[in-house]
Amino acid sequence: MRGHTAESPDVLVVGGGLVGTAVAYGLAREGARVTVLDEGDGGFRASRGNFGLVWVQGKGYGLSPYARWSRSSAQRWPALAAALLEDSGVDVSLRQPGGFHLCFSDEELAEREKRLSTLQAELGGDYPYQLLDAKALRERLPAVGPAVVGASYTPMDGHVNPLKLLRALHQSMQRRGVTLIGSSQISRIAPEAGGFAAHGKLGVWRAPRIVLAAGLGNRALAPQLGLHAPVAPNRGQILVSERVAPFLHYPTINVRQTDEGSVQFGDSMEEVGFNDFTTTDVLSTIARRGVRAFPLLKEVRLVRMWAALRVYSPDGFPIYEQSSQYPGAFVVTCHSGVTLAAAHALRVAPWIAGGAMPDELDAFPGGRFRAAGQILSHA
Ligand SMILES: Cc1cc2nc3c(=O)[nH]c(=O)nc-3n(C[C@H](O)[C@H](O)[C@H](O)COP(=O)(O)OP(=O)(O)OC[C@H]3O[C@@H](n4cnc5c(N)ncnc54)[C@H](O)[C@@H]3O)c2cc1C
Repeated sequence: MRGHTAESPDVLVVGGGLVGTAVAYGLAREGARVTVLDEGDGGFRASRGNFGLVWVQGKGYGLSPYARWSRSSAQRWPALAAALLEDSGVDVSLRQPGGFHLCFSDEELAEREKRLSTLQAELGGDYPYQLLDAKALRERLPAVGPAVVGASYTPMDGHVNPLKLLRALHQSMQRRGVTLIGSSQISRIAPEAGGFAAHGKLGVWRAPRIVLAAGLGNRALAPQLGLHAPVAPNRGQILVSERVAPFLHYPTINVRQTDEGSVQFGDSMEEVGFNDFTTTDVLSTIARRGVRAFPLLKEVRLVRMWAALRVYSPDGFPIYEQSSQYPGAFVVTCHSGVTLAAAHALRVAPWIAGGAMPDELDAFPGGRFRAAGQILSHA
């Protein structure tokens, strides 16, 4: 990056969730001076309410660069976790033992086979997975109930403690010199000679480069920079139990035991607009499915529940783009910000700092949504 002074950041990052902080942390590691502008605790923040999976299995069906991208991030996750521990002292409890997708019917199992075999073929065979019948599954996960007919497993999956991750990113980036300005909702961004000016209630910030990483806020900000990010909210609800003795040593897509012993059950996918309230019907469906998966949880007490809004693009895949109209302006947004945190810090940030764009990202310009009716398949 070019030389800088304390008053003049090289890059402004709008948004202090998992995406903005991962990018800001990576930029600081590249030697850039960065200011993160965040709306503050009142805003919607998927980063505070997610399920904590670092998940590859099944992702990218219909758009294989996304499978490659997710996997490349999972492979870089140990390096990210180690760097965060060194910079912040926070252990994010990364575990990557592989993960199971439990199936409750033969049709579901057949669908898993189709999805994973297609992905394996598209990735030239380099996509390890296993399909397990009920007996084989019980040998691996003795606690599964009789309603589970089988599962898919890949060694590529894992999980972290997502709140520790957000804290580790915040602390690490600040220890590396990133300035965080809270309570600074940005309402207008103006391209100007030599860069960009971001206007908020607390002031105006300027830098030669700017990254839109404002989650659901990107929708309104992107057009001001010749970018397109038509993201919309998708609600997910999650339940957490009291701590119990370790019984589940692998994450599954709907139930996982955290490093602290509690069990998380999730997560619904609901199109309900900007509504992050919980509902008893959805929560009871989630709890019932969890107990069918692992009957020993029947007597376990649930202690917390919440809902949060995913940041969803029309086809479910991420958006990564540098503005062709205003070079130096970038948008970075996705619905798997935990999984992709390593890619954001270690691959997207070097691109924003002036390096080459990672090859996989050709597939994810926001402009793909400009053509009407262009809905691909679910990520
Ligand atoms: C229920 C649920 C379960 C999930 N499970 C997983 C999972 O298991 N694995 C996984 O990889 N991902 C998961 N996710 C997704 C993951 O949480 C998100 O991809 C990630 O948090 C997105 O981060 P973000 O920074 O883009 O958005 P956010 O966390 O929403 O942060 C955006 C930030 O930008 C700020 N902001 C918005 N507008 C402005 C503005 N105009 N000016 C300044 N600041 C602004 C907001 O205040 C906020 O702090 C889940 C999400 C949900 C909701």
